Amino acid sequence: MTYDTENIFAKILRGEIPSEKLYEDEDTYAFMDIMPRAEGHCLVIPKGPAINMLDATPQQLAACIKTVHILGHAVMRGLGAGGVKVEQYSEAVSGQEVFHLHYHVLPFYEGKRMENPGA
Ligand code: C5P
Repeated sequence: MTYDTENIFAKILRGEIPSEKLYEDEDTYAFMDIMPRAEGHCLVIPKGPAINMLDATPQQLAACIKTVHILGHAVMRGLGAGGVKVEQYSEAVSGQEVFHLHYHVLPFYEGKRMENPGA
């Protein structure tokens, strides 16, 4: 598979589709998931092209994890989450639907079940 520049996250990066931005740096962009599985469910993507984790460069992976770390602390501090789960689907068989690398940051709250556990 080759990277499709018309995928939805590439369009978000180009500003062609709106997104609820949370954080941005030179290499990454973070925004709210439009179908959140928990309060504060957000996504981290690299600005450069990468289909998924298997296709990404070590530099893209490192940059994304750095931003995941920032967002993880933000949901703990800002939303009072008790913990965080990080998910990354690589290839359709694993559940990947958007073919631009993305990490899900899923906050968990003490005594609260996830409303829509999803995949
Ligand atoms: O399974 P996968 O991780 O590829 O799913 C894509 C994710 O991107 C979903 O959680 C979906 O809600 C999210 N999404 C989004 N904004 C869009 C399109 C999809 O947050 N415009």
